[in-house]
Amino acid sequence: MGDIFEGFEKKKDYLVCIDSDGCAMDTMDIKHIRCFGPGMVQEWELWKWEEEAKFIWNKVSLYSMTRGINRFKGLYETLKYVNEHITPVEGLPDLEYFVTDSGELSNPALRRYIEKTDSPMLKKCLHWSEMVNAEISQLTQNDRLAFPGVRENLELISRRADIVVVSSATPEALREEWENNGILQYPALICGQDAGSKSYCIGRLLEKGYDQEKVIMIGDAPGDMKAAKKCGILFYPIEVRKETRSWEKFRKEAMEAFFGGSYKGEMEEQYIRSFEKNLA
Ligand SMILES: [Mg+2]
Repeated sequence: MGDIFEGFEKKKDYLVCIDSDGCAMDTMDIKHIRCFGPGMVQEWELWKWEEEAKFIWNKVSLYSMTRGINRFKGLYETLKYVNEHITPVEGLPDLEYFVTDSGELSNPALRRYIEKTDSPMLKKCLHWSEMVNAEISQLTQNDRLAFPGVRENLELISRRADIVVVSSATPEALREEWENNGILQYPALICGQDAGSKSYCIGRLLEKGYDQEKVIMIGDAPGDMKAAKKCGILFYPIEVRKETRSWEKFRKEAMEAFFGGSYKGEMEEQYIRSFEKNLA
């Protein structure tokens, strides 16, 4: 793991950390609705219950407090529901074993479990995961657009704060997406999945000398909020299905409050309550 933080310098008093997928970029819905859910229906032959199965997938991965869940955990939660309420799913304990036992939930980790167990269920999971990756790589640039208002926000934020992308996507995808949207000039640093967890990245950035009250994480998932709170910084939510409005509210209300020191407290709590209600 190369240390990308070493070359980073604090230039302003304020720091704004921004998540990418589903926050700056309108990429979450399309990946789940077009690739993950239908792929699961295909792999587990759930045609007869297609709508319900996809509904559960989307609920788990996009529209509830588990938004942003790892794909294998999301698959386990969804297939567990299918098994209990719709139709039996074979080999579910093998997937449960993988998601609870393996520290790393990735295709390479899954391959190691397949070698160890020779489980048909885990083979299906890998096939599904690879098929979905192939489909996601086929999405065009038009399927990876920044939400309206993101560029304008970045422009305004950049006048007063350092900007860092804190994401669990690959750094290559992040660079490509931010560049294609003409916004790559704003972040001073891009932290992708190889940089470490979000809380680790925020922690490393804080070591550069920012006051925690002058650092905010903008994100769309409860995991972003957890990372922010773990590091003692502020959180501003981009709400799913209301992303454009969320960015507009940041520009019109929260940004000034953040720079003026009045975001912390009542205002942040209100935004967080609304965020949690939206995912309830
Ligand atoms: Mg996100």
